[in-house]
Amino acid sequence: MSRFKRPSEDKPIKIGSELIDRGEQIRVEIPITMLATQGALSMPIEVIAGDEDGPVLAVTSTIHGDELNGIEIIRQLLPLLSPSILAGTLIAIPIVNVPAFMTQSRYLPDRRDLNRSFPGKKSGSQASRIAFTVMEDVIKHCTHLVDIHSASAHRSNAPQVRASLNKPEAAACAKSFGAPFIIHSAERDGSLRWAASNIGLTSIVYEAGDAGRFDRDAIDTGLWGLLGVMDHLGMISARDLHIKKLRRHKPEPSKIYESTKWIRATKGGLFRSQVETGQTVERDQFLGFIADAFGEGMTVLKAPRAGSVIGITRNPVVGHGDALVHIAYN
Ligand SMILES: [Zn+2]
Repeated sequence: MSRFKRPSEDKPIKIGSELIDRGEQIRVEIPITMLATQGALSMPIEVIAGDEDGPVLAVTSTIHGDELNGIEIIRQLLPLLSPSILAGTLIAIPIVNVPAFMTQSRYLPDRRDLNRSFPGKKSGSQASRIAFTVMEDVIKHCTHLVDIHSASAHRSNAPQVRASLNKPEAAACAKSFGAPFIIHSAERDGSLRWAASNIGLTSIVYEAGDAGRFDRDAIDTGLWGLLGVMDHLGMISARDLHIKKLRRHKPEPSKIYESTKWIRATKGGLFRSQVETGQTVERDQFLGFIADAFGEGMTVLKAPRAGSVIGITRNPVVGHGDALVHIAYN
């Protein structure tokens, strides 16, 4: 007997107009919106329903349309799985925000942030309708969620899991992911993680790499992270997948942090960073300097406390107050 039962025990899962029975693998297109040309726009979803019952894990990516690493993580994950080796069900949505993905933008065409629009409404804005569809057609069937993001434009994130560490099962999932960093973070109103948690799912976010590109390290860590979570949930046996053979490097135990702080520009100018994502820093360590084009008018930035660099700006041209270096600390 599995530890987890999906909400509709033993009934087939219905996504869009498709009924998915145990032992089936199917790709579903659910209609999400209509273009100005009156063409329909749909969201592709892959469902793998294991031969055995178990948890129902949603893996979602690209809620922000320019955050692409999760798409590649899902592409590499799916061929490793099949109903015969799976207990429970995987529902993978590589591109949640299809309109924003098409315009290579973080936001929807009306500038709304889809990740502030959950759980959405049937008759609301485009963002609200997409959020509602994702909740109704996918999330309400699920027991667990891993939502994949990257840094926003001109920034880079070290591979990290964000979770509410005061929730034991979320903390356990976060640890099983095996990313270099786990960051305690409260759920933000309107986000998918928040809306999923509110209806009882165990939800974590994986953040890694930059917007607008595939990052090898972010993708490798994410792929093995998802397999680690599925192994933890009893959905797969890591041995079945020959993970030891496939794994390029064994992850170290995650560094766990309770808090984060952005070090901001104390003046405008050009920021010359002296640190990289993933590295540890000591209190008062030199992080870089801001100066004008000639190197004059210099201000030095130092770490206010010891921790790890989990994010950094990639754009050296900075205005007063811009976020430069993201440090996680305890
Ligand atoms: Zn994002």
